[in-house]
Amino acid sequence: MSRLENAAQDDAAFRLELRGWLTSAYAAFARDWPGGAAPRDLDFRRAWEDTLCAQGWSGLGWPEAYGGKGLPLSRQAVFHEEHARCGAPLGVNLIGHGILAPTLLHFGTEAQKRRFLPGILANREVWCQGYSEPGAGSDLASVRTRAEPVAGGYRLNGHKIWTSFADRAQWCFVLARTDPQAPKHRGLSFLLVDMGSAGVRVEPIRQITGEAEFCEVFFEDVFVPQNLLLGEENQGWKVAMAAASFERGTYFIPRLVRFAQELDLVRRLALRPDAYGHVPASSSAVRHKWARLAADSHVLALKSQRALAGAMRGDPPGPEGSSTKIHWSEAHQRLLELSMQLLGETACVAENGEGADEQAAALAHAYLWSRAETILAGTSEIQRNIIAEQMLGLPKG
Ligand SMILES: Cc1cc2nc3c(=O)[nH]c(=O)nc-3n(C[C@H](O)[C@H](O)[C@H](O)COP(=O)(O)OP(=O)(O)OC[C@H]3O[C@@H](n4cnc5c(N)ncnc54)[C@H](O)[C@@H]3O)c2cc1C
Repeated sequence: MSRLENAAQDDAAFRLELRGWLTSAYAAFARDWPGGAAPRDLDFRRAWEDTLCAQGWSGLGWPEAYGGKGLPLSRQAVFHEEHARCGAPLGVNLIGHGILAPTLLHFGTEAQKRRFLPGILANREVWCQGYSEPGAGSDLASVRTRAEPVAGGYRLNGHKIWTSFADRAQWCFVLARTDPQAPKHRGLSFLLVDMGSAGVRVEPIRQITGEAEFCEVFFEDVFVPQNLLLGEENQGWKVAMAAASFERGTYFIPRLVRFAQELDLVRRLALRPDAYGHVPASSSAVRHKWARLAADSHVLALKSQRALAGAMRGDPPGPEGSSTKIHWSEAHQRLLELSMQLLGETACVAENGEGADEQAAALAHAYLWSRAETILAGTSEIQRNIIAEQMLGLPKG
């Protein structure tokens, strides 16, 4: 048997074992949660994430010297896929595990790694990402938050916005301007900021779903010690760009598993007769929308596999990720719009009271949340600009 076949067989055995453990562990966790499973509740999500970490399911790709498991990317992908398949929600420290930890491993000093990695591994310290500002989102290099060099460190002043989980985070990595005279990409630094510092103020922003997952963060004369600069001073742009590339290969996996699960739910809804005995799937318009989504699901799975293969080969990140981002976020909105059409008024009364319907409530919540998916991590317009310039070779607009 070749080395490749051996590896594939090992991955398959790993998948089976993991599936067995995840299915029973998540079912037991959800059963024991007061009031029953609540996968949209942030406390439930945090507690499940804590459980995974306590059982050793964190730091999957980190070197063993830092408490990681040193698993190859193929096994990490299996974990993300199986985790989503068992119906478990994403955690609240995604930014710590997915972005900050690999960035620390790459750019951190030994002391920074020893200080911060254990807190992420055990899920003791939640991280948030302080990049966007009221005047700097798509054009991130325009950030105006100022980190002025002072004795022993920096004095931080500024205003961040849309900072996910900031009200739950102990730490925030902040992109701040350390040299206002330098060209805009060159005067930025990447600082690790203790959210408990004097002068940090967090104000949650309520979303269309009714939840407040993101916040405004104000820094007023916050002292940041010198040893919390990650990478070199004024090289923050380089660190931030590298940080954005570390999840390549695995980011879409849970999202695409969920897409396929929701697609199946929508299929069942379309086959269910309504109060008048009408079966929605008998409409060619419904069948057409569903078929297009089934094709989307298949093509997206192939794109995700291609990205994973590229990452495993060590290919540099390219503009293909932008095509997957647009495709997934826009198809997901279409999928959830179809679910709302099929649910009709049930979607409005699903959450509580008479006629409460957990499945309909989950779809209604996902529909509302999906409005954000064409904005976060780079809007569709920005992704189209990247495709136009880097894939199609069109002139800059
Ligand atoms: C759910 C959610 C979570 C988020 N979490 C975080 C977080 O944790 N940390 C963080 O730092 N940020 C976070 N963000 C912010 C996110 O990164 C920004 O919203 C995004 O980058 C867009 O920036 P903006 O909102 O300032 O919009 P703007 O950049 O002001 O854009 C406004 C509109 O103009 C369009 N536009 C802008 N420039 C161009 C251009 N050159 N060509 C064509 N069209 C253009 C945009 O596409 C958009 O439609 C989050 C956002 C969401 C929705």
